[in-house]
Amino acid sequence: MADSNFIDYVKILCRSGKGGAGSRHYHRAKYIPKGGPDGGDGGRGGHIILRGNRHLWTLLPLRYQRHIFATDGESGGAGRSHGRDGEDRIIEVPVGTAVFDAETGDFLCEITEDGQEINLLRGGKGGLGNVHFATSTNRAPRYAQPGQPAIEKAVVLELKLLGDVGLVGFPNAGKSTLLSSMSAAKPKIADYPFTTMEPSLGIVDYRGSQSFVMADIPGIIEGASEGKGLGLRFLRHIERNAVLLFMVPADSDDIRADYEILLRELHEFNPELSDKSRVLAISKSDMLDDELREEIAKTLPDDVPTLFISAVTGQGLTELKDVLWREINSEENKNNFTITHRKLDPRHRVEEEDNFIFELPEPEEDDFAGYTDEDWEDEFWDEESSVNPDK
Ligand code: GDP
Ligand code: MG
Repeated sequence: MADSNFIDYVKILCRSGKGGAGSRHYHRAKYIPKGGPDGGDGGRGGHIILRGNRHLWTLLPLRYQRHIFATDGESGGAGRSHGRDGEDRIIEVPVGTAVFDAETGDFLCEITEDGQEINLLRGGKGGLGNVHFATSTNRAPRYAQPGQPAIEKAVVLELKLLGDVGLVGFPNAGKSTLLSSMSAAKPKIADYPFTTMEPSLGIVDYRGSQSFVMADIPGIIEGASEGKGLGLRFLRHIERNAVLLFMVPADSDDIRADYEILLRELHEFNPELSDKSRVLAISKSDMLDDELREEIAKTLPDDVPTLFISAVTGQGLTELKDVLWREINSEENKNNFTITHRKLDPRHRVEEEDNFIFELPEPEEDDFAGYTDEDWEDEFWDEESSVNPDK
């Protein structure tokens, strides 16, 4: 999981499939010269469906995907045969992917759970074949419904969730080093500020059978929340971390003051961030002797669990994992996959039990208006077009 593979934003043109046309076929057999209508229904157009997949961590697989089109439903046929449905296109995305209308910027929906499916664009319904329109006064209706049109929409997918634990600290605090020593990820490590240009993720094994995700977020600089630095674009990722691990290096002049600056920056960016669980790690503690350590311990803030750690010697790392695990799984964090700053429009919610929590409005009813109106029929089908197209 190299950090250059991190893709958090893609724009894709999506189109559902058109519904297939209903058939206007008439039954023909040797000794039945005037058979009744037997045109079958058109198939449904394919849906565009989003599906959450917890094994995906970035939008990378979609990077070169400029468009995703579902296929159209097929037309109905003779002998009441039903046209084949179009194929759905399922877009697998990481949990925490938010979807926006690329033109208006409106928030559309968000994938918050593994396996969750959202029907982003419905395929058009297939048209009914003429077999449905025979009545006692019109035994041989010459019309059938066309299929509903496809829906096209350019969407932006944005990944907001980066991990269970977000690392928060100034450049050089030792974040990248900690991530690489605790996980299989290999972020760049260097001696100068802003080495981490992209957030990178690591999976931390916990006691053999469990794991959590840690995200290395580029160093916050003072004033980042006012848009002064690199920070802003990345700060929004923190919104989705369940636990924030603050890191202040042991050689800081004032550990407590540094911690408070970081906290203030986050608060200014989004006050709700101050409510998140936090843990403070004094990094590079291998540089401290017992005496210094005791000195520092006396000055530490008391509103946060604090540990001395060293990515180099491994000191405190087992204990750190325990504390992080406890915080991740605390009552208030169990269901932390909620959006902190945007709410789903309740109009877009449908029944919870079917897994589709968001649906675009159905095409206007008007699309089908007049279908059983004979005036409309005459107006719509001139003699030529009413010749049975289904052979
Ligand atoms: P980041 O900017 O917060 O990602 O910091 P880095 O992980 O790139 O580390 C910055 C510098 O601190 C590098 O030179 C690391 O070698 C050094 N460093 C990181 N962790 C430790 C540690 O536990 N002990 C010591 N002594 N040095 C460390
Ligand atoms: Mg770094």
